[in-house]
Amino acid sequence: MYKRVLCLLACALMFLLLVSGLAFAGPYVTPGGPFLTEPTTQDDFLDAFTDYEQLVNRIEQIEQTSNGRVKFEVIGQSNQGRDIFMGVVGEGDKNVLIHTQQHGNEPHGTEAALRLLQDLGSSGCPTFRQIREELTVHIVPRLNPDGSEPDVFHRFNVDPDAPARNTAEGFWTSWWEGVGWDINRYHWFDWEDSDLYANHPDDYPENPVPEAQALIDATKEVMPEWTIDFHNQGSYSSPDGKMVTSSIMWPNHPDVPEDAVNLSKQLCVAMMDQMNQYGYAEVTRYPGSAIPNIARNAYGLEGLGSVLVEIRGGIGHKSIGMLVQHSYEQMVVMLEKTADGSLYELDPDRIDEELPERGTTIGSYGPYIE
Ligand SMILES: [Zn+2]
Repeated sequence: MYKRVLCLLACALMFLLLVSGLAFAGPYVTPGGPFLTEPTTQDDFLDAFTDYEQLVNRIEQIEQTSNGRVKFEVIGQSNQGRDIFMGVVGEGDKNVLIHTQQHGNEPHGTEAALRLLQDLGSSGCPTFRQIREELTVHIVPRLNPDGSEPDVFHRFNVDPDAPARNTAEGFWTSWWEGVGWDINRYHWFDWEDSDLYANHPDDYPENPVPEAQALIDATKEVMPEWTIDFHNQGSYSSPDGKMVTSSIMWPNHPDVPEDAVNLSKQLCVAMMDQMNQYGYAEVTRYPGSAIPNIARNAYGLEGLGSVLVEIRGGIGHKSIGMLVQHSYEQMVVMLEKTADGSLYELDPDRIDEELPERGTTIGSYGPYIE
C-alpha cells in the first residue's frame, strides 16, 4: 500500500515537472489554488493545449514508448475528416472506456487522458500493472477534433450544413446555422428513436453527427462495463462556500436499469472519496437532465455504468496543471478500484447522502452545459 502511494506520488511529481518545465513558464500547481480567474489571452490559453497535429504526434510517441502495450485504433472520422482515435491498453477480460472533449472548448480531460495512456503504457507502478492485468482500458482522447482546433475552439462539431438550433425539432445545434451539431445530443443507439428522425425522416435517415456515431459504434463493439465522459463546466461555489473543482453525475433517465445506476454511483463514490483527501478539491453533484440522448443516459440505458465528469473550466491557463491533475486522479481511481475489485464493495447510496449540490455560479463564462 505504502509502496503504491509512493509510486503514484513519483508519477505525479514527474508529470508536474514535465508540465512546469516544458508546456508552461512556471509551476502552477499550488495547494489550495490558484482559484481566481486569471487575466489571460485566448492565445496563451490555447497554446497550453494539444492541437490535432500535436495529438497525432503524441499518439505515435505513446505507441512507441509503450513498447506495444498501447495500441491506437481509428474509430471514425470527424465531419471535416480528421481521425478519431481510441487508445487500447491492458490484457484483462473486463473492458472499460473513457472519452473526452465531445465539446471542443472543454479540453482538460484530453490532456489527462493522454497522460494516462502514457503512464498505463510505460509505468511499472503496481497500480498500473494491476490495471493492465485485470482490465482492457479504452480511451478516446478527444471525440471532437474539429471543434477543438485553436482557430475554432467551440462547443459543436464543424458542419456548414448544420441548421440553426431548434430543439423541439431535434436540432441540437448552434444558435446560428452553418456552425455545427452538439455531439452530446446524438448518442442514439437506434437512430429511429431520435427526435430528429421522428420529425425529418427523409432529410435525416441516419445520424448526421459522425463523431457521436463513432463512439456509439466503438461502444457497441467493446461493450465496456462502464464508460466515463469528461467535460468542463464554469466556476461554481459549493453550498458551504468552497470552490468546486468538479461536478459528477450518474444516469437519471427513469428507464436505466438499477444495476447500471448503482455501478455508476459506486464510480462516483470512488471519485468523491479520492478527491476529498485533497485540500484543493471539491466535488459536487452535477444537476443533469434526464433526456436520453446525452452520453451519460444513453450508455446507462444500454445497461453500462455511465458517469459524467464536469471539471471546472473557462478559467485562465495558470490553473490548467491543477485541473488536469484533478481529471487524472479521478480517472486513475476508477480504474484502480475496478481492477482491485474494491469498487463493488462501495455503498452506492452514500452518493445521495454525501455529495453536495453543485452550488452557485461565480464565473462569467458559460453556459458550459453537459
Ligand atoms: Zn460539455
